[in-house]
Amino acid sequence: MKKEKKKIIFIIITIVLLILTIFYIIRHNYNIKEYEKSIEGIKVTMLGGSNIKEKGNINSCSYIIRTRNNQLIIVDGGRDIDSEIVQKYIMEYNNGVVNHWYITHPHDDHVGALIKLLNDENSNIIIENLYYSFNTLEWYEKYDARDFETEKKIINALSSNKIKNKIECTKNQIIQMDNIKCEILKIANPEIINSDNGNESSMVFKMTATDVNKSIIFLGDAFTQASIELLKTPEKLKADAVQMAHHGQNGVTKEVYEAIRPEICFFNSPEWLYNNDSGTGYNTGPWKTIEVREWMKEMHAQSFVAYEGDITLRFTSEGYEVIN
Ligand SMILES: [Zn+2]
Repeated sequence: MKKEKKKIIFIIITIVLLILTIFYIIRHNYNIKEYEKSIEGIKVTMLGGSNIKEKGNINSCSYIIRTRNNQLIIVDGGRDIDSEIVQKYIMEYNNGVVNHWYITHPHDDHVGALIKLLNDENSNIIIENLYYSFNTLEWYEKYDARDFETEKKIINALSSNKIKNKIECTKNQIIQMDNIKCEILKIANPEIINSDNGNESSMVFKMTATDVNKSIIFLGDAFTQASIELLKTPEKLKADAVQMAHHGQNGVTKEVYEAIRPEICFFNSPEWLYNNDSGTGYNTGPWKTIEVREWMKEMHAQSFVAYEGDITLRFTSEGYEVIN
């Protein structure tokens, strides 16, 4: 009888342990799934694209951003020769749907890929929301004739039925996208006509992952006139990361970068531009890249350069990590 009782107790303990183990495994798997579905913060990929020597060796600007719940945001998209890689990411990350696409300004190193994807009948992407701020076609023809062909193409392509919702942005506009808040800091201004006009028309905006309080500011190819406007509200410029204006040379003034005080700098540059090398060696060209790089070094910011290839950073409450 005693032996029988021991046997029953043993069986009960075994069953209880088994149930607890199963419960633990189920719960653990569930947590992993939840974790994968919803990772805090923001993932920012700077595309190498045509900046890479073998893929063009020419400047372009393109970013792919993923929100906490994997909404897909694109900034610019790069040149027409970058369209294939951009399309690949859109298919891979979100089955062809771009939830939000932002254009800084209508020059071919920023909107070439977008024009190509919108005009290509074989491309089946959908853009749910497209954000931009342009001057009129007449303005571009008069004041930015050099790039008028591209400006005409992108303005015409806006009527594509691949775009569901077009948003002409206004200054100080706030756009909420999952855990990301985007604030429009500067829009195109038709009154600026005595500077690098098309580049000065760049829209400037800051995206903040509000769950982790990390932000990245996009300066497009903004120049000195844009700098004056941006410095009217320097407190709005502070950001953890910055897309270096005009590919990291001769863009906004040093004061703008001082107001941003970034930890991370993204240079959308090919190697020759990053090194100001016109073909005869380091710092022999007419570009201001080395000077700008010195500013960022003084600010102890870490730089990432597009010619080295695609790079993805994940910003979390703890800081940031490179995830490729
Ligand atoms: Zn550019």
